[in-house]
Amino acid sequence: APPSGPLNVVVTGAARGIGRAVAELYAERGHHVLSADLNLPPVLAGGGRGKQPRIKADISTAAGRTRLARAAHELGQVHVLVNNAAYQGAHGSVLEVSERGWARTLSVNLTAPLLLTRELIGLMPHGAAVVNVASVQGLFAEQNNAAYNSSKGGLVNLTRAMALDLAPHGVRVNAIAPGAISTEGVLEAIASSEDPEQTRRDYEDLHALRRMGTPREAAQVVYFLGSAEASFLTGAIVPVDGGMTASFMMAGRPV
Ligand code: NAD
Repeated sequence: APPSGPLNVVVTGAARGIGRAVAELYAERGHHVLSADLNLPPVLAGGGRGKQPRIKADISTAAGRTRLARAAHELGQVHVLVNNAAYQGAHGSVLEVSERGWARTLSVNLTAPLLLTRELIGLMPHGAAVVNVASVQGLFAEQNNAAYNSSKGGLVNLTRAMALDLAPHGVRVNAIAPGAISTEGVLEAIASSEDPEQTRRDYEDLHALRRMGTPREAAQVVYFLGSAEASFLTGAIVPVDGGMTASFMMAGRPV
């Protein structure tokens, strides 16, 4: 049976953005949350009654994953693993992307979720869940972003492979594919663009709902996928994109 009562939840990339919102949502609702990031995640707002261990760990290294696994071991079981951390710094087209940037992107965004899940599977009871944070860019490609597109496309199908292979362990695996979410990173990119107002509208207009999503709105879907409410859901890729991928044009506007 799926677990009831407070869950033990592991969130990677929890220092900011969507990962932070996920960690906060679980903490607010009284669950125990282990937050991990390259940078020490801040104390979670909203308090909650659960434990909230925070660790520094680079999930692209064996040492970082071991550190995370050790902290998870102290919590006991792991009911929900949220593979959220990502490297988004290797921009460039298929012709331009550096071999190093390509390797780092795949290592953090694709290989780490695989290896971390393997590392934690021994702590995951029947009814546990993995939630991978993919992207609309794992479903369709964006120009000049070959490495990121490829890593998220890989993560989408890794989610399906994990769903099949972990089903015998009683572990469900799903992913969200967010559209543009108003995280610190996205807001910084807008602010530092040539025409911030226009750039913001461009982001908004990618979505049928004509706005960006909030980190909280992404977190709420992660929460659902990790919960017993989703007990017959595995191998699904859930767009959290305000209708972006419902259209073959970008929200009614030819691209
Ligand atoms: P972000 O860059 O703001 O936060 C990512 C966090 O992951 C950072 O705190 C970073 O330090 C951490 N991280 C990076 N590499 C790590 C590593 N090797 N080990 C541990 N931690 C590491 O990102 P975000 O915008 O909040 O995105 C979170 C997730 O959502 C990512 O998987 C991203 O690809 C996905 N996503 C974001 C958007 C968006 O619009 N923001 C859209 C679609 C998908």
